[in-house]
Amino acid sequence: MFWSDKIAKEIIESGAHTPYWVDDMFTPSGFAHIGSLRGPLVHDIVYRSLIDAGKKTTFTYIFNDFDPIDGLPPELVAKSSPYLGFPLRMAPSPVDGYKSFADYFTRDFQKVLLDLGVRAEFRYSWDMYHAGKFDGVICEVLDHASEIQEIYQRVSGSKKRDKGWLPLQVVCEKCGRLGTTRVHAWDGTMVTYTCEPSMVTWARGCGFTGKTSPFTDPKNSAHHPGKLPWKVDWPAHWKVLGVTIEGAGKDHSSAGGSRDIAKELCKEVFHIDNPYNLPYEFFLIGGKKMSSSKGLGLKGRDLTGVLPASVGRFLFTRTDYRQAIEFDPVGTMAIPDLFDEYDRCWQAYNNDGDENLTRAFVLSQINDIPKKVKGMYIPRFRDIANLRQLPNVDLFERLAQLKGSELTEGEEKIAGDRLTDTAIWLSNYAPDEYRFQISITPLSETDLSDIQWSFLNDLAVVWESAEDPEKLQSEIFQLAKKKNIDSKTAFEALYIAVLDKKHGPRAGWLLKKFPKDIVIARLNLNKGKPEAAKKTTIQFVQKSEYFEIDKSLREKYPSVSIGVALIKGVHVTKSNPALEKEKNAFLASLAGLTTETLGTYPEVINYRKLYKEMGVDWHSRRPSPEALLRRVALGKGLYTVNTCVDSYNLVVMKHRISVGAFDSDNVKFPTALRYAGAGDKILLLGDKEPTLYTEKELAYYDKDGGYNIDFNFRDAQRTMVTENTKNLWINVDGVFDITPEQVEQSLRESTQLILKYCGGTIEFQGVVK
Ligand SMILES: [Zn+2]
Repeated sequence: MFWSDKIAKEIIESGAHTPYWVDDMFTPSGFAHIGSLRGPLVHDIVYRSLIDAGKKTTFTYIFNDFDPIDGLPPELVAKSSPYLGFPLRMAPSPVDGYKSFADYFTRDFQKVLLDLGVRAEFRYSWDMYHAGKFDGVICEVLDHASEIQEIYQRVSGSKKRDKGWLPLQVVCEKCGRLGTTRVHAWDGTMVTYTCEPSMVTWARGCGFTGKTSPFTDPKNSAHHPGKLPWKVDWPAHWKVLGVTIEGAGKDHSSAGGSRDIAKELCKEVFHIDNPYNLPYEFFLIGGKKMSSSKGLGLKGRDLTGVLPASVGRFLFTRTDYRQAIEFDPVGTMAIPDLFDEYDRCWQAYNNDGDENLTRAFVLSQINDIPKKVKGMYIPRFRDIANLRQLPNVDLFERLAQLKGSELTEGEEKIAGDRLTDTAIWLSNYAPDEYRFQISITPLSETDLSDIQWSFLNDLAVVWESAEDPEKLQSEIFQLAKKKNIDSKTAFEALYIAVLDKKHGPRAGWLLKKFPKDIVIARLNLNKGKPEAAKKTTIQFVQKSEYFEIDKSLREKYPSVSIGVALIKGVHVTKSNPALEKEKNAFLASLAGLTTETLGTYPEVINYRKLYKEMGVDWHSRRPSPEALLRRVALGKGLYTVNTCVDSYNLVVMKHRISVGAFDSDNVKFPTALRYAGAGDKILLLGDKEPTLYTEKELAYYDKDGGYNIDFNFRDAQRTMVTENTKNLWINVDGVFDITPEQVEQSLRESTQLILKYCGGTIEFQGVVK
C-alpha cells in the first residue's frame, strides 16, 4: 500500500483522531529554504489520502506571523535591523508593495505551495490571537505556569527558570518589541512585564516596565494580546483549532524535543488528545556544486523554476516520509532520472500497473488528474535533450521514429512542454558530455591524416556493435591499439570529426548521445558528402524587369546568388498566437547558444569575410543572421515586429542565411544588387538621420536609391513591411560558400512561413545567379 494511504488507514482505524484535521505551519521570517517544502508536502499528501479514503478532512496551514524577528538574512541586516524583536507582522516589508515584513515572505511561500498543489486553508497566527481565539489557552497557561516549567525540566532536562517565570510575552507598550519582554507577574486579570535590555542577544529592550492585559480588549483594537512561546504555542494551536493530525521534521521529534513537550502539555495542561504524529525525514538538496549553480538556489520557489510543478511535487510523493530525500541535480543525471521515474509511474497509471507507482503519479498531480491513455508513448526527457541539440533535426519526426508511429496530439504536447524543461537542464545542470553539440562544419579530407580517417571509418562500424556508452568507450581504446595509433591521436581525430574541437568529454557517452545516422555520417566524412546526394534541382529565374545583379559586382563576386520572390495580397498583423508558439519552441531549441558559437557557423564566417572586403568592421555592424542569434545568445530573446518579419526571421536564424522582405508597393522596380554610389544616403529603419554609403559597400537599390546597406546589415524605412503592407518583395543573400541550393531552401521556407501566417499568393520565386 502507498505510504500515505497506509497512514490514512492507520489514522482511520485508530478512531482516535476525529474529526480529521491536518495542520502544519511556517514562520515567515525569511525566504523558505527548499528543504522546508517537505513538511507542507507530506501533510498535503496525507490529507489527499484521507480525502481519497472518503473522509471529510480539514487541512490548515498556519503562518506564524506573530512571532518576533529574531535574526535577519544578510541582505536585510542594514535595512531591517531596527525591527529585531518586533512581531513579524508589525515590522515594515523590506520591499515595497507588501503590507509587512511577514506579508513579504508569507506571499512568496504561499505561491510556492499553491504552485505545488498544496490545498491547505491558510491561517495567520496574528489574526487568531487578535481575534481572541487564544484568550482561553493564555489563561490556562498562566494558571499552570509552574506545571509547565516542571514539564520542561522533566521532559527536556532544561535548567530551572527564575522563580515566578511565566510562559508568555507581550508587546512592549513603549517600544513595540515582543521578543525582549519578560512577564513576571500575573494577578488573574493583568500581567506585569519588563522590556529587558539584555535578555536576548539579537535585540535590545527599552527597559520599560508596565502592566497590561494578556487578552484581547474588545473596546480597544489597538491593544495586543500576549503571545505564547513557541513550544507552548504549538500545542495551544492544536487546542484552538482542533488539530488531530500534525507532524514535524524528525529533529523536533527526537526524545526530549519540542514534540515530546507538546505531548505532555496536551495531556496535563490543555487536556486534549495528542495529534497523530508524522516525524518526517530531511530533504537534502545538492552537494557542493549547489552554491555556484545558476538556476536552482536554496529557496523553495526555485524548485518550480527548474521542474514542472507535478515533477517537483513527485520528488516528495515518490519517497516514504521516513526516508531522507537527497537531490543533487548539478552536473548529474538526477533530473533526467527523476523524469524517467515519473514516466514509469505515469505508465503504471495509464496501463493499470503497480498500485504504489500509480498512487505516486496520481498524488503528484497539481490540478486535474490526466485521462488514462492505454499504450501512450511518453517522449523521454533525455531523448528530447539529445535531439534538440542536433542540427537540422525535426524533433517530432525523430520522436515518431523512436515511438514507431506518428505522435498523437497529447504526445506532441508532452514533447513540446519538455522542450522548455530540457532547455533549463541543458543550460544549468547537465553533465558536460550532454552539453556538447555535434559539429556541422564541413571537414575536408586533409584536416586529418589517413590513419586517423581509417580509425574513424572503423569506429563507425564499432559504434553500431557497441550497445552502451561504457562498452563503446573501451572499444575505442581497443580499436586505437589494434590500428597501432596512440590514443591521443585517435581521440583528437574523433573530437575534431564530431565536435570540431580538439578535446571533449568522455567519448563513449558523447558518441552514444547522438543518433546513429548523424554519428556515422561524421565518422565517414572523408567518403564523400551525403548532403551533396540530396541536391535539388534549382529553379533559376531571370526577371530583369524586377532584379539584376550588377555586372561589375558579378565579376568581383561570381559566387553571388540571390533568391527573389514577389508575394501579393498578404495580410500582415502585429502577432499571431500560433507563430508565437513556434517562436518559443524555436527559442527553446537554441538553449545553450553562446556568442562564441556564432563565429563558428560557416554562413556567418562567409558574411564576415564579405564585410571585411567591403571595409566594414563586423564587430560594429553585424550581418543580420548573426545579429538575431547574438541577441538570443545574450538572453534577450526574439523580436516581435509583425507576422511577416517574425516569420522569415525564424528561417534566418535556422539556416543563418539572410532574408529581407520589403513593401513592394514602395519599391520602384527594377532593382539591383550593386556597389553604392559615392555620396548616396539611406534613412535606415529606426533612425532619424540618414547614413552615408561608401563606394565599397554592397546594397540593394531601386530606381530611387538604396533600400538596404551592407548586403544584410539593415534596411531602409521607406520600404519597410508594416501592418498596411499588401505586397511583398523578398531578397535572400548568398555569397562565397553559401550555395544557390542553400539560398533556395531559405527562400522557399521563408515564403512558405509568410504564406502560413500572412496569406497571399506567390507571383514568382527563384534564384538569380
Ligand atoms: Zn520596550
